[in-house]
Amino acid sequence: MAATLHVNDTQKTKILATIGPASSSKEALLDLVKAGVNVFRLNFSHGAHSQHQQVIDNILEINEKYNLHVGILADLQGPKLRVGKIENNALPIAPGDVLTFVNEECIGNMDRIYMSYELFASDVKVGEKVLVDDGKIVLEVVSTNGFNEVKLKVLFGSVLSSNKGVNLPDTAVSQPSLTVKDLEDLDYVLTQPVNWIALSFVRQAKDVKDLQKRIQAKKHVAKVVAKIEKPEAIKNIKEIIKASDAIMIARGDLGVEMPIEKLPALQKMIITRCIQKAKPVIVATQMMESMITNPSPSRAEVTDVANAVLDGTDAVMLSGETSVGSHPALVVEAMRKIIGEAEAHYHMHMKRPQPDPDTETFLSDVLCLTAPRLAEDVNAKAILGMTVNGYTAFKISSYRPKAAIHIFSDKPHMLSTLSMVWGVKCYLYTKFTTTDETIEDVNAMLKEAGELQTGDIVINTGSMPLHKRFRTNMLKITVIE
Ligand code: PEP
Repeated sequence: MAATLHVNDTQKTKILATIGPASSSKEALLDLVKAGVNVFRLNFSHGAHSQHQQVIDNILEINEKYNLHVGILADLQGPKLRVGKIENNALPIAPGDVLTFVNEECIGNMDRIYMSYELFASDVKVGEKVLVDDGKIVLEVVSTNGFNEVKLKVLFGSVLSSNKGVNLPDTAVSQPSLTVKDLEDLDYVLTQPVNWIALSFVRQAKDVKDLQKRIQAKKHVAKVVAKIEKPEAIKNIKEIIKASDAIMIARGDLGVEMPIEKLPALQKMIITRCIQKAKPVIVATQMMESMITNPSPSRAEVTDVANAVLDGTDAVMLSGETSVGSHPALVVEAMRKIIGEAEAHYHMHMKRPQPDPDTETFLSDVLCLTAPRLAEDVNAKAILGMTVNGYTAFKISSYRPKAAIHIFSDKPHMLSTLSMVWGVKCYLYTKFTTTDETIEDVNAMLKEAGELQTGDIVINTGSMPLHKRFRTNMLKITVIE
């Protein structure tokens, strides 16, 4: 019998928390779960596999002990470019100076600076911008020998220090989106029960499909999150959303690679498209940044989190706040409060997308769209559904119903996968005998769990005949006895 844990799960917008030294112990993870975290993010830019393993074991133990379905997202670093070590860790620079980037390791100074990307000299063109340290330094390519040396003029910046990140917003980077390190990390990740794998610096749908093929080849069931952080990804956003299982608006790098003032509109555009295609979407980075040290968020952060909720995002993500911050659980509690207030004012502002008659899922999609409409007409408390691969849950959630969404599956991994999806609460149900019996069972389970009471109206969705495991093809209005 699982122990009981009071978890704050009344809100529909989900919270992802990045794990790091401040949060990897079992006690710290449990505190985060109690505060309301739905999915833990393991950032493969940091930490050894043995450290990630310890965190995964801790999460699985918490899930098992308290009968929870907290999800795990493994975030692959991708082709993150960096300068190497700098003499005395500080090189004073000024506009007009010319720096030389080389692809051979050295201690950086005014003569030469190591840059980690082998093909830098052959990819860049004269006139392209190169941004260092989150855009605090702006350089422009003045010449390249096409092989191992690039000269860059400083346009803006004062000090270059060691290992700073480099962004190439103007350059068509020829390096694949999975680096040698990513492939090693992926080999490890695919031995673990992770639910989501995030791919950094996605440029086109092909990047996502390549990762999906590698996951399938290992017979793993993890779904792919495409991180949108490059102008090329924005250009190809339609195809990338279509190919991906979910999207992360990675505002950190996106805000360096694109003019930062474009972020709010890009966020709204991506969330809208994701909802229309029933793909979960995460808003990430600097949401509660000041709480890395402070005990409460800034006014701007409160407004940012609330606006992401009002935009309709599935999830909001914490990075440094929970990985290296001073009080990770306090941040999650503060975020929960903001979400609660904002959700009271959230109404899906776009027209619910009409199912496409030319798709094989058309009939099922019409039923999934009818469920929230019917729920509104009869003032239903909840919509209940069954899923094998998550489709029904993604679809019902994408119509952002007012009613609660309870999803049942006989696939335990699916329960924690769906923990990232707006409004979805999941339960294991393995019986699947007849449709009548299943409906009675799931309604009774929710009554016992305190989610429903006698007299509540619910919309049951399902598939008939049950054993054929068709897509959702049935709706029923039930009054709970
Ligand atoms: C980002 O750039 O916003 C992001 C989430 O990516 P990472 O933290 O992996 O740099």
